[in-house]
Amino acid sequence: MRASHILGLAAVLAAAMASPAAAGAGWDKISTPAPGPARSIGAHAAGCLAGGVALPPEGPGWLVLRGQRQRFWGHPRLIATLTDLGRQAAGHGLTLLIGDLGQPRGGPMPNGHSSHQTGLDADLWFRLDRPADPENPLAVTLVRADGMAIDDAVFRPGHVRLLTLAASHPDIDRVFVNAAIKKALCRETLDPRAQAKLRPWWGHSAHFHIRLACAEGDSDCAPQAPLAAGDDGCGAGLDWWFGEEARTPKPSTPPAERPLPTACAGLLK
Ligand SMILES: [Zn+2]
Repeated sequence: MRASHILGLAAVLAAAMASPAAAGAGWDKISTPAPGPARSIGAHAAGCLAGGVALPPEGPGWLVLRGQRQRFWGHPRLIATLTDLGRQAAGHGLTLLIGDLGQPRGGPMPNGHSSHQTGLDADLWFRLDRPADPENPLAVTLVRADGMAIDDAVFRPGHVRLLTLAASHPDIDRVFVNAAIKKALCRETLDPRAQAKLRPWWGHSAHFHIRLACAEGDSDCAPQAPLAAGDDGCGAGLDWWFGEEARTPKPSTPPAERPLPTACAGLLK
């Protein structure tokens, strides 16, 4: 093999592996947002964020939990949506307990989430009472230990109200909940569009997860697949979540090892 070929091969290998930074290390060490206009770059589970904004610790109808984790950053649209949803929750006598959004420049986190990388995702806890210590709140799970149904002793109309408000918000594209919670919601009479946005996912028994779509014109933002028309998520597909296949965990690539868009490498400098 000629030297030029070897050099060419090395370049191809280096590009394929991306730099360690682009592959996902170090995003949690950055404490400031990337300057410039807000841009979500890449996909929810492999991307980064420019022009991120911090959600303040609390406001009318909402409270940030575990703020010391520094995961209260998001796209300005996410911050606006959460504060708007908080105002609506307050109108129903509820308080949004806001968990993780993302890191100042998005990107993979060393623990806790696969997505939350482009400033468009946020977790909201299912507790209905305001915790005495927002830095160390106790999580309340709504699902029975066997995972097959909700726990009737803790599931309340307030939970349905919160989920309905989130799924009815025009800027919220998806709301992820545990399949047992989705099953309970399928027994409620909800607006079909809101019902369709409520999707089952693993975990999500003590919190739910809201996701915004890419902003219009945000050309580096990879959109997720649209929902199938007419599928409210309550049909046969929901049964799969209670079967053996869904309940057997499969190995997946850790977030920090997934390649990121090359534009993200520039945000780490
Ligand atoms: Zn989440």
